[in-house]
Amino acid sequence: MPLPGFYFPPGSARQTEAELYLTADGKYLEVRDGGGTLLASAPRRQVTVTSRLGNLRRKVAYPDGALFETADNDGIDALLTGHNGALARLERSWRLAALSLLAIAACTALFILYGVPRSAEWLARETPPSASRVIADQTLKAMEGKFLLPTGLPLARQQRIRDRFARVAGWEASGHGYDLLLRNAPHVGPNAFALPDGRIVVTDQLVLMAKSDTELDGVLAHEMAHVNHSHGLRSVYQASLIPAAIAFITGDASQFAQMTVILPAILVQSAYSRKFEQQADDDAAILLRRQGEDPAALAGFLERMELKTCGKTGCGPSWLGSHPATSARAARLRRAPAQ
Ligand SMILES: [Zn+2]
Repeated sequence: MPLPGFYFPPGSARQTEAELYLTADGKYLEVRDGGGTLLASAPRRQVTVTSRLGNLRRKVAYPDGALFETADNDGIDALLTGHNGALARLERSWRLAALSLLAIAACTALFILYGVPRSAEWLARETPPSASRVIADQTLKAMEGKFLLPTGLPLARQQRIRDRFARVAGWEASGHGYDLLLRNAPHVGPNAFALPDGRIVVTDQLVLMAKSDTELDGVLAHEMAHVNHSHGLRSVYQASLIPAAIAFITGDASQFAQMTVILPAILVQSAYSRKFEQQADDDAAILLRRQGEDPAALAGFLERMELKTCGKTGCGPSWLGSHPATSARAARLRRAPAQ
């Protein structure tokens, strides 16, 4: 199909009505006048065609300076691509949409991988103690009476643990204040977790599983490290920021609903990230070694707990449940240097 337009000889502004043809072999672009006289011809590859820009007339420039202009945008696209113009446009918009989706996915992934942890760390650092206290209060309120019941440990045992707790807290140079809450938690089982304001909950079930004071010291030092690094707050912010970030980027706000009940869930399941657990283990090991205690006791305790609470069916929500593999943690604790 010839394409109607205007022909301009090389170096001339005088236009002649003409038509543009693609030769049957698809190799040459020719311009002919109404009588069929050849005005310009060149291999397709040597001819430049201006890109589509709104309804601007398209220019076909020949190597010798001759020019052909047409207002038929779809027609020239069809001539050059062999498709009709609508399909070419659709293809372009598909490609653009796919590229946009990829870019959005990449931005989201980058933000979740790097932006979210950093933002969460910064938010945790900037959270005033009064706010940490309120968050801790509300978290406890959600759990007390349901998951956490008053401790059933004999008074002498309680006192012994409090003494150990004060002792381990005294080794810490972080300047944080800590408080020990002993709770009976039949539904939670052997567990310990740190609240953002320094309160550390230890369940009766965990205490009863410890065979020595050193094992408990290890658990307490581990939880104090979580407080020192604000791991609880950082987890909450991370868990909240990810749906927030996705909602921000994709415009889907339904994810926000999850943000309200996050901390109790995180704490019950001890769903700290592997990095946080490793950091808490490392800090605990250093602290224990400095006091002449052997972190291997904590390693042994973890392994025994896994045997008892997870058995052969795998771990449920326990102090170990969503922690990194116990064998890897135990090996790292046993290797831990003093500094
Ligand atoms: Zn932990």
